[in-house]
Amino acid sequence: AKQAGKRRHCTFNESMAEKVHERLRLEQRLRQAVKERSFTLHYQPLIRVEDNVLIGFEALLRWQDEGQHIPPDLFIPVAEECGLIQELGSWVLQQACRAAQHWNADYHYPLKVAVNVSVMQFVEPDFRQRVARELADSGLAPHLLELEITESVLQSLENSKRILKDLKQIGVSVAIDDFGTGYSSMAVLKDLAVDRLKIDRSFICNTPAQPQDAAVCKAIIMLAKSLMLGITAEGVEAIAQVDFLRENGCDTFQGYYYSPPLDSAALEQYLRHYFSA
Ligand code: C2E
Ligand code: CA
Ligand code: CA
Ligand code: CA
Repeated sequence: AKQAGKRRHCTFNESMAEKVHERLRLEQRLRQAVKERSFTLHYQPLIRVEDNVLIGFEALLRWQDEGQHIPPDLFIPVAEECGLIQELGSWVLQQACRAAQHWNADYHYPLKVAVNVSVMQFVEPDFRQRVARELADSGLAPHLLELEITESVLQSLENSKRILKDLKQIGVSVAIDDFGTGYSSMAVLKDLAVDRLKIDRSFICNTPAQPQDAAVCKAIIMLAKSLMLGITAEGVEAIAQVDFLRENGCDTFQGYYYSPPLDSAALEQYLRHYFSA
């Protein structure tokens, strides 16, 4: 109560200073965490719409800082701003490739892994080599790695086109994440060597109840199909969404309706159950 009282009487400058201090602290903690590799990856199942078959997982970064869960939407931008994302991103890529190689070896079944790649990693001159090296080191087949990039990479279009061609040569696939929220135009999309679009969760969450959102989903699905791209719906939570998106031609589902992201123990259990059923 004393604390709250003090807060209420903060002047503008004091609360600004507090924000700056908080941010500096977060940056410091993050720097330490990257050095010590104190992150984990959770994995969320990707389900083929046609027959409900498990086709792989998306790797999602988790950070437990002094017992407190810090969401990636909060710390990834900080990692990008203070130049930590390259090191962190490389670690994610390495861990995800190793994990996928383990699933495939354990269950003799091809499961892919989707890895989020920040635009700052993507445009690094040695990104292609890094990807090739992680594949070689882990032994994962290139076609089982999918890189998820956002539309922001299209800001430096010519550069991105070249990088995408390089990645195609390696044999990995590339998805455009959060599709519909950024810069893409159809003209640009047709020239890019990408394999898949992921409809942003913001369009899925009120579909089909909201006719406008449902129309956007339909349009994105049609666009993907006419460009011969795969199409994933993320954030699928309800049967009504499943039915609508299936009828309209989505090929992959991801969301709480099927499973939340799983920690390593839960993932182990999920796989064991899936392959014994
Ligand atoms: P994203 O790539 O769009 O990932 C999907 C987010 O939606 C994840 O949040 C996931 O937990 C959440 N989600 C999945 N299904 C549902 C659902 O049915 N309902 C709802 N409400 N949410 C669902 P998360 O794990 O908090 O990640 C947030 C964002 O942080 C990611 O969004 C991605 O942009 C970024 N991120 C996570 N891991 C990494 C990483 O390793 N590298 C980079 N660069 N970014 C990452
Ligand atoms: Ca993603
Ligand atoms: Ca997404
Ligand atoms: Ca997102």
